[in-house]
Amino acid sequence: TARRQISVSARCLQAVQPATPAPKGSNGSSGSRAGRAGKALLKYAALGTLCGVGYVSYALWRETNPREQQPQTATFPNGSRRKTIVVLGSGWGSVSLLKSLDTTQYNVVVVSPRNYFLFTPLLPSTPVGTVELKSIIEPVRSIARRAAGEVKYYEAEALSVDTGAKTVHVKSVSEENDYETDLAYDYLVVGVGAQPTTFGIPGVAQYSSFLKEIPDAQDIRLKIMNSIEKAALLPKDDPERERLLSFVVVGGGPTGAEFAAELRDYVNQDLSKWMPALSKEIKISLVEATPHILAMFDKSLIEYSQELFKKGKIDLKLKTAVKEVDATTIYAENRDTHTIEKIPYGVLVWATGNAPRPVSKDLMQSLGPEKQNSRRGLVINDRMELAGAEGSIYAIGDCAFYPGLFPTAQVAHQEGHYLATVFEKLHRIDQLKFANETAQDASRVQQNNAKIDKINKKIDKFHYHHYGSLAYIGNEQAIADVSFNGYSHKSAGAVTFLFWKSAYLGMCVSLRNKVLVALDWAKVWFIGRDSSV
Ligand code: FAD
Ligand code: NAD
Repeated sequence: TARRQISVSARCLQAVQPATPAPKGSNGSSGSRAGRAGKALLKYAALGTLCGVGYVSYALWRETNPREQQPQTATFPNGSRRKTIVVLGSGWGSVSLLKSLDTTQYNVVVVSPRNYFLFTPLLPSTPVGTVELKSIIEPVRSIARRAAGEVKYYEAEALSVDTGAKTVHVKSVSEENDYETDLAYDYLVVGVGAQPTTFGIPGVAQYSSFLKEIPDAQDIRLKIMNSIEKAALLPKDDPERERLLSFVVVGGGPTGAEFAAELRDYVNQDLSKWMPALSKEIKISLVEATPHILAMFDKSLIEYSQELFKKGKIDLKLKTAVKEVDATTIYAENRDTHTIEKIPYGVLVWATGNAPRPVSKDLMQSLGPEKQNSRRGLVINDRMELAGAEGSIYAIGDCAFYPGLFPTAQVAHQEGHYLATVFEKLHRIDQLKFANETAQDASRVQQNNAKIDKINKKIDKFHYHHYGSLAYIGNEQAIADVSFNGYSHKSAGAVTFLFWKSAYLGMCVSLRNKVLVALDWAKVWFIGRDSSV
């Protein structure tokens, strides 16, 4: 209809316009063809934009106006007991579970000291303001409210688990709402993540900032801005000024490397405009104990990244292991010469990996060293069941240890989804068992038992699908080592950066997050990053 209307209008226009002969030598027919093509292009672009805006508006409305939820009850309408799943944590593993689980089949309770989900892949972008903190978090309440069945939430920390009584002891994190209580569970899912490791190196916990949570990002920003302002008051040749403008990142894993790259971008692209002289004095160092940064990537990508870092004036200190830290200096051992190098710093960011949280350690201890014998986390089997508490406690994500599975969001996400499929099957088994209790004839019981066997066989082992790794390396460049269905591809550069952006945008947990992150990127592109605290 639209096309017909346009061609009718065009005909009307021709009718009212005086016929002007085409100038000699000009190609009238090709001109009108180009005009028609231009009009059609405009028409489709307008239509596409309209559809896109309409879709996003509807999806945002749908997301912010959740449907009615089925309330929690002690029993189902048939009289069978509704079991309780207590989920610890609101990170990648737990939220993936919540999003995939049929919450009408269980009474679901979430316990987490953090009342939001944090999209960690973009956390290194936040201290320098490439992305705003609020853009990468999603409230637990929104996630819980969007589930089909009611999900209860405690803003609390799990302190210990009584595996015999099947209870978890929790303590609120709010001083205004101080309580401690025991929550009973039929199934407990431990998804408490991990905490940054310091390897017990003296001074690290006291003087460095980590990059794991939102307050960490705020702390780093504050320290950077304060250091810059303090340095600005000192004369140029003052060694204290040099120290204050030395920003050191320890740990050349993806967290450290991505943050160093973001920091370099901020200094080169934004601070250089507002404090041109001072910005040239800023020194960014990345200290790594092994011979390479980003060890999880292919050798060619590692070399590409290291080269880019050197060009971008990030001082790479490889084969350099930090041994001690005090208020102003890092003491690091060169692994070739075994000499100790003193590295003065103004801001120190520590990113050397993970260690188990106290609640995980407590659980390991209570299950005993025969079952829980890894220092890396809670030992689980290939069905995510906790060794020593099979059938009632599951562990997913960074808090869990299973050989070959690494502490990444990708693993945690897939584990959470897998566990939801397990719970769905366990619910069907429970319903068949309940039907057996009230069955009148033996043949019905036999049939149900056969079904139970079939479902049990369908509870597959967890299979992890590795889709690859991505990392931002600065200067609008990224590296990608992706694999899909046996096909693998490695790339680096500006186009990979666009892929990195679209991949992370696609992975954001809500449309609200996607829109906010896209707007943040657009804002940085047009007006740059902000230099206030
Ligand atoms: P988390 O996401 O850490 O969540 C743990 C949850 O448990 C939190 O809600 C926490 O508040 C809660 N909790 C803590 N203690 C308790 C307690 N006692 N009781 C109850 N709840 C508790 N991985 C990738 O695959 N790709 C990436 O690009 C990537 N980028 C990253 C960038 C950074 C800066 C960091 C730090 C990590 C990154 N990771 C990435 C790793 C990824 O974030 C983790 O593997 C992932 O978060 C693990 O998910 P999780 O659910 O186990 O733990
Ligand atoms: P990591 O374990 O990946 O890297 C830590 C690095 O610190 C290692 O290279 C180690 O050699 C180094 N190190 C340890 N002690 C040191 C010392 N005393 N001095 C100098 N260097 C030292 O840690 P991470 O980067 O925090 O990542 C944690 C997890 O999160 C990993 O599983 C990682 O894959 C995942 N992650 C992934 C991405 C991504 O995919 N883009 C981003 C961030 C984190």
